Amino acid sequence: MTSVAPVPRLVEQFEHGLDAPICLTWELTYACNLACVHCLSSSGKRDPRELSTQQCKDIIDELERMQVFYVNIGGGEPTVRSDFWELVDYATAHHVGVKFSTNGVRITPEVATKLAASDYVDVQISLDGATAEINDAVRGPGSFAMAIRALENLKTAGFKDAKISVVVTRHNVDQLDDFKALADQYGATLRITRLRPSGRGADVWDELHPTATQQRQLYDWLVAHGERVLTGDSFFHLSGLGEPGALAGLNLCGAGRVVCLIDPVGDVYACPFAIHDRFLAGNILSDNGFQNVWQNAPLFRELREPQSAGACGSCGHYDSCRGGCMAAKFFTGLPMDGPDPECVQGYGEPALALERDKPKSSVDHSRTGERKGPVPLKLLTVPPKKFCNESPI
Ligand code: SF4
Ligand code: SF4
Repeated sequence: MTSVAPVPRLVEQFEHGLDAPICLTWELTYACNLACVHCLSSSGKRDPRELSTQQCKDIIDELERMQVFYVNIGGGEPTVRSDFWELVDYATAHHVGVKFSTNGVRITPEVATKLAASDYVDVQISLDGATAEINDAVRGPGSFAMAIRALENLKTAGFKDAKISVVVTRHNVDQLDDFKALADQYGATLRITRLRPSGRGADVWDELHPTATQQRQLYDWLVAHGERVLTGDSFFHLSGLGEPGALAGLNLCGAGRVVCLIDPVGDVYACPFAIHDRFLAGNILSDNGFQNVWQNAPLFRELREPQSAGACGSCGHYDSCRGGCMAAKFFTGLPMDGPDPECVQGYGEPALALERDKPKSSVDHSRTGERKGPVPLKLLTVPPKKFCNESPI
């Protein structure tokens, strides 16, 4: 009888990294017409070194050769790039599907009709409140109406299964049912994700991240409704609140293993929520292309090594939680081998109460006046002071 070598579990294969990322986010621009208080990439102004159209097409060619099936395109607001639709068409023509995130500003009836005709483009509309009051406090005045208009245009054009993408905060966690109803109304799918303390999100995380009671509320809601709601696997730190496997997903930090970010100037980071020199693997232009960075960067090799459980080693939930999110720990100034700041065992809160050094990203494209210490949770109505502060539209 011949013996058959055991097939490693999917999660074990992912831990050691793959030849190509499964979840590749590509931020095409740091320019944005809005100034959301929790923007993970501190977007606002275009970076003058932004990749050209040809450089972007070269990256798409490389992704096709690597058999990357799709990219998550974001920003900033990616549709403000004048070549955005050209790049989407180029990607889909080269067998790289596109899922793009937008605040809806450019989803006109004409654009919605064009999108509805493609099988390879998915649209994700960002909305952080099921009402204008809750949404606009975070994303800026008029942003709720803009997102709803985009959803209406998509529905009218016959676009199937758009996504409504919500960052769960202390203020909108009570609206989960309303978000679901909104998604149903527009024939869309609800996607909810975790607020991470990245970019400008670091300035508002203390005020906006759900309380311990709300984390339980969120977990219970996900267990009850999760089958028809996408989460991007972002709530695995809550797994310890119930039976193992009750939350669908891989329960693994995929940074540098199956996840990475290409930023608007071609820098490659381990994760979209980790824009900091500590997680910078290389640059596509100066390091011989994306494939070389993904497969050979010392940082990515380090992240694919077995990780120590550290202070979480004795926790009974470690198999499902794995110490939580690397980026959340880093940007709150907690030890990387310790518990997540929202640890369901309650270890995060005392750690957060101690004196901490919170690392700041050197990458900040906020328009002047957007980031002077903590961002107050109020409508942003400051007029631009300089030309470069003007809306990029
Ligand atoms: S750092 Fe956090 S957000 Fe990024 S892949 Fe890991 S768990 Fe996910
Ligand atoms: S102690 Fe660590 S492994 Fe346990 S629940 Fe908290 S963060 Fe997760």
